[in-house]
Amino acid sequence: MGRVYNFSAGPAVLPEEVLKEAADEMLDYKGTGMSVMEMSHRSKAYDDIIKEAEKDIRDLMNIPDNYKVLFLQGGASQQFAAVPMNLMKNKKAAYIITGQWAKKAAAEAEKYGEVVKVASSADKTFSYIPDCSDLDIPEDADYVYICENNTIYGTKFWQLPNTKGKDLVADVSSCFLSEPVDVSKYGVIYGGVQKNVGPAGVVIAIIREDLIRDDVLEGTPTMLKWKTQADADSLYNTPPCYGIYICGLVFKWVKSMGGLKAMKVHNEKKAKILYDYLDQSKMFVGTVVEKDRSLMNVPFVTRNHDADLEAKFVKEATAAGFVNLKGHRSVGGMRASIYNAMPIEGVEKLVAFMKDFEEKNS
Ligand SMILES: *Cc1c(COP(=O)(O)O)cnc(C)c1O
Repeated sequence: MGRVYNFSAGPAVLPEEVLKEAADEMLDYKGTGMSVMEMSHRSKAYDDIIKEAEKDIRDLMNIPDNYKVLFLQGGASQQFAAVPMNLMKNKKAAYIITGQWAKKAAAEAEKYGEVVKVASSADKTFSYIPDCSDLDIPEDADYVYICENNTIYGTKFWQLPNTKGKDLVADVSSCFLSEPVDVSKYGVIYGGVQKNVGPAGVVIAIIREDLIRDDVLEGTPTMLKWKTQADADSLYNTPPCYGIYICGLVFKWVKSMGGLKAMKVHNEKKAKILYDYLDQSKMFVGTVVEKDRSLMNVPFVTRNHDADLEAKFVKEATAAGFVNLKGHRSVGGMRASIYNAMPIEGVEKLVAFMKDFEEKNS
């Protein structure tokens, strides 16, 4: 069997060029006679890999000099605890609840301080982004937290919240490198890489230097203190070496595609093909209000919520080579994740398949 079109929400499709390059370098990385997996993280070869990866992500995202880039482990979920541990000086933070990942982050933060839920879209199954232009943010909040792209529900903050001067912390796991970002608008940007950047386990955190402090919450584990990691250039202990190497190859691939501006054009083009079809289909319909639609995750259902028909669709799509289209259990229906590495033909062919399915089943 050849490669399929993989619409998984994560771990997700990686660029084929990257996988081939990794395969070519598997047994002998650039004349070292060993795989990156077998290499000391203190070796010259590995030092070049991690330094180059950092340089490339800095170039791509235009990261200002007063921000550190950390390559960490534990996935995005580990940072749900690290964020309050490192930032909750006043033991209070404002969270905007736009889905399960924001909810989980808030629940974790509640272990360390007071979490004020300043906005939520729970009333309509998180199918929209609440108006965040004038929120009641406590004077003494240490930060304002968002999940910028909601992987499960398919919504995206197209406008960042007005934080009233507080530092913004954003989980960008599912929109990392999908479009240009103004890093200076954030205190912390972090994301698990398995959606758009690399293999699961690595989390990249981009943190403004003044937020990397010694006075973290008492009892913060050494490994979760950002300063430990920043002082050691992400090499305090053995990092997820191979995963970081793959991230580095993905950064080069994104550069070769023309960088983040070009990535956004590519992603808009792909998403439009799918949303345009959904908007006129008599069988399928998207679940998110138009203005808040994600370019990365596209949940959809059948218009009459016919579970049997949806199961039939997923089954036949899988057989035709369009895999992982089943929706998250909390939304039901289907979800097509169309990250950076999903080629435009993948979406075109999926839509052709959907049209055909619609014709045959109505
Ligand atoms: C997938 C995902 C996570 C969880 O990532 P892990 O690496 O599994 O901890 C957190 N936030 C968002 C937005 C995600 O999409």
